[in-house]
Amino acid sequence: MIPVTQPFLPPQEEFQKYLDGIWKRNWLTNMGPLASQLEMELKDHLKLNHLLFVTNGTIAIQMAIKALEISGEVITTPFSFIATTSTIVWEGCTPVFVDIDPNSLCIDAKKIEEAITEKTSAILATHVYGNPCDVVTIEAIAKKHNLKVIYDAAHAFGVEVNGRSIFEYGDISTCSLHATKLYHTVEGGLVITKDPDLLKKLAFIRNFGISGFDSFSELGLNGKNSEFHAAMGLVNLKYISKIHDKRKALAELYDKKLKGLKHFKPAWHIQANDNHAYYPIILESEELLLKLKTEMDKQEIFTRRYFYPSLASALPYLPKLELPITEDIAKRALCLPFYYDLTFEEIELIARLMLRIQNND
Ligand SMILES: *Cc1c(COP(=O)(O)O)cnc(C)c1O
Repeated sequence: MIPVTQPFLPPQEEFQKYLDGIWKRNWLTNMGPLASQLEMELKDHLKLNHLLFVTNGTIAIQMAIKALEISGEVITTPFSFIATTSTIVWEGCTPVFVDIDPNSLCIDAKKIEEAITEKTSAILATHVYGNPCDVVTIEAIAKKHNLKVIYDAAHAFGVEVNGRSIFEYGDISTCSLHATKLYHTVEGGLVITKDPDLLKKLAFIRNFGISGFDSFSELGLNGKNSEFHAAMGLVNLKYISKIHDKRKALAELYDKKLKGLKHFKPAWHIQANDNHAYYPIILESEELLLKLKTEMDKQEIFTRRYFYPSLASALPYLPKLELPITEDIAKRALCLPFYYDLTFEEIELIARLMLRIQNND
């Protein structure tokens, strides 16, 4: 059996060392020493001035919406994970979907302006598979129309644009550190901003809005994360360059072995590095995708239709809107097995099988 993804696990002894410290201190959560250390090490690693370690990538987006006091309509992408849309709805705002660019698969920045109304207050866009949005155009539009920008950068850990962390773009960027992500803390997330006042507000929001012994400054929630999760993050961070290198080598082998397959890969932002968070392919037709997926399922080689269906046309709590490029891409996008412990031999096997299925022999 080959799963589509599998979490990275470090040697158990290394995690155990941190557990000994936790038992000694008996400090389990509420911004403990390991959580603070993780924030410091991540700032250092990502070359950022400010970030907060939070419960998960979904809470991170909700905190961003709340901190920026966003209301009314939020322009967003229909080609993302459900949390990009559900957080907007959960925060009482209305998602307004704009179609994606057929090459980058991120929101089409050229189509944003025509979706702006007097109710629009923000843009919430996803760096799909870690591939940066057109951040320059989006920033210019936001400035012109006085809109806030949030990036769902759940996939984009380790991506830089023009030598700057992708997390620096927008008013706030959020990341997920879930077990299935490239770098993880089992469950976890990050909220990143360049603005120190906004950071302070986010820190209060993370802790129920408590601002002093008997005072509250914000409508808060519980966005804290634990010492156990921070410990996993600290251990995993020691392996991050090994993780990046292995994923790069695996992706290069897929590229080489899948040359005969009728597909394309998302066009990567020219000023950004690829963090190899996923191995997505867009097949020539949905028919080919279904044929491949069905036959591979039988061999217990699992792929995932990520993202399918379109968030604009498939949610029971929203009116249905069919955006042509998103509908088309969502039908043809498939993520192949891709994780640290995947072997080169397994990739050769997967690629051979896929070509055999495509060519019917
Ligand atoms: C994983 C993911 C999230 C949610 O993150 P969690 O940590 O699982 O809450 C949000 N957006 C995107 C694009 C994701 O892939």
